[in-house]
Amino acid sequence: MRRDRIVIVGGGVAGVSAALLLGKLGREVTLIERQPTLVAGPPFCHLHAGGNLYREIDDDQCLKLLRQSIDFARLYPFAIDRRPTVIAVPTEDSGKPEQLLRRLELLRGAYARMVAEDPGRKVLGEPEGYFRLFEREEIENLARCEAVERPRNAREWMIPLAHHLDLERVQYPLILVQEYGINLFRLAAGAGLALEAMPNVKIRRETKVVDVRREGTGFRVECEGAFDGAIECDYLINAAGFRTGEIDEMLGVKERRMVEFKAAYTSHWAKRETLWPEVIFHGERGTPRGMGQFTPYPGGYVQLHGMTQEITLYPDGLVESAPQTSQPRLPDHFLEKIERGWPKEERDARTRRAIAHLARFLPDFSEATVGGPPLFGAQQIPGEDPTLRVAEVAFPLPGYARCEIVKVSSVTDMAREILRDLDQGESSEIRDEATLWQIPQLGDVKEEELSERARRIAASRGYPAMMGDRCVGT
Ligand SMILES: Cc1cc2nc3c(=O)[nH]c(=O)nc-3n(C[C@H](O)[C@H](O)[C@H](O)COP(=O)(O)OP(=O)(O)OC[C@H]3O[C@@H](n4cnc5c(N)ncnc54)[C@H](O)[C@@H]3O)c2cc1C
Repeated sequence: MRRDRIVIVGGGVAGVSAALLLGKLGREVTLIERQPTLVAGPPFCHLHAGGNLYREIDDDQCLKLLRQSIDFARLYPFAIDRRPTVIAVPTEDSGKPEQLLRRLELLRGAYARMVAEDPGRKVLGEPEGYFRLFEREEIENLARCEAVERPRNAREWMIPLAHHLDLERVQYPLILVQEYGINLFRLAAGAGLALEAMPNVKIRRETKVVDVRREGTGFRVECEGAFDGAIECDYLINAAGFRTGEIDEMLGVKERRMVEFKAAYTSHWAKRETLWPEVIFHGERGTPRGMGQFTPYPGGYVQLHGMTQEITLYPDGLVESAPQTSQPRLPDHFLEKIERGWPKEERDARTRRAIAHLARFLPDFSEATVGGPPLFGAQQIPGEDPTLRVAEVAFPLPGYARCEIVKVSSVTDMAREILRDLDQGESSEIRDEATLWQIPQLGDVKEEELSERARRIAASRGYPAMMGDRCVGT
């Protein structure tokens, strides 16, 4: 049975990706989003193409993140910042860089096999260059080289870091890996433009779903806001992000899950020269030495994470659903931030702590200043394992799909599973994997229009417009 009338609750990356695929296949899709713009939920900046930021996850999750990230980069090439990530293990850390090598080799082999099967998957550069090690002597030599405006190889990418790194604070080798960046503003702009070009997709912005009921074999979705009224559909996709439990509760579906509030900070380093790689300083999550993440944007802006309770995490930031409920309840001060923004003092204090956290390794970075509002939000984690990084979709009722992605790269697997459920495995569209994700409306988006909209979206959310610009393209 084809179920053609589809409602998607939530226009985050999960909802828009499902809408793009189903819209391309000619289904009648209504995408409902309570915010004025799409992809306005928690932020994302890193394409986890191998999961190397996480020492605690198993090989299977890493391999899946690699494969999914490649699919994601092929779907949204305009949102990918093609710059590598450098991973450093601090001297103060109990881990050793060598402990990361076995997995990197496993990932490099897997990437080579994927590319051999389908050369279109070569989106992370040559497989043999998936990672590259740098001993201290080489870093010392690079520190004497001049930075280049457009780095062409791993050595050139390393120069700015070599100029500023406190060489005594990290263990060797340093690892450069082809995990790229994602610009969420560009993704919001490009996906929005493509969806608007689909006559069979209706986008209801500034519209909140307040109730959902089963009606016959379908659903009745009650909305309030810019669109006031009910929409009937044959198939319902719950992509409401950390509020997926609210829709479950409307339908009487019980499910255990967690919700976590986290924040990254916007800093500005006026003297930052040229392009930087992203830089990760490993550390034990939740301790004062938690991982530090330095994510460069154009114009000297740098997004910062520090996996400590005083920076990115909060002591009361991870909550689970109580028995007999589906929606974990975040303390009010988090909802206040999500709905109304941050108190300036807290924003500035946490941003300064984030700068100090990174300046332990990059002493000159202590000059950086607060560059804008934090990038923050709450995200869903299905089940009871807070270290889960790969999760996609479940089908708790006939005609009802619930998306719960933890990393954005899961969206292609998620949408494919939804299509399979929609068509009960009968769809020839699914069998043709090669063309499934060719979405002409995404290919037709004009760069000029996209970058103009990305800047506008960044500015409308209070960020410097330049954060909507790409760091490095293809
Ligand atoms: C600080 C931080 C950093 C992160 N960094 C990364 C990263 O680098 N890489 C990565 O892969 N992932 C990262 N993540 C995770 C990533 O942000 C999430 O996985 C992703 O955004 C989830 O997308 P989603 O579409 O499922 O949910 P959301 O983006 O939350 O979208 C859900 C949408 O549903 C809407 N909605 C909810 N209820 C209703 C309703 N009743 N009616 C109408 N609309 C509704 C919301 O307004 C929202 O826009 C990070 C998360 C955080 C918090």
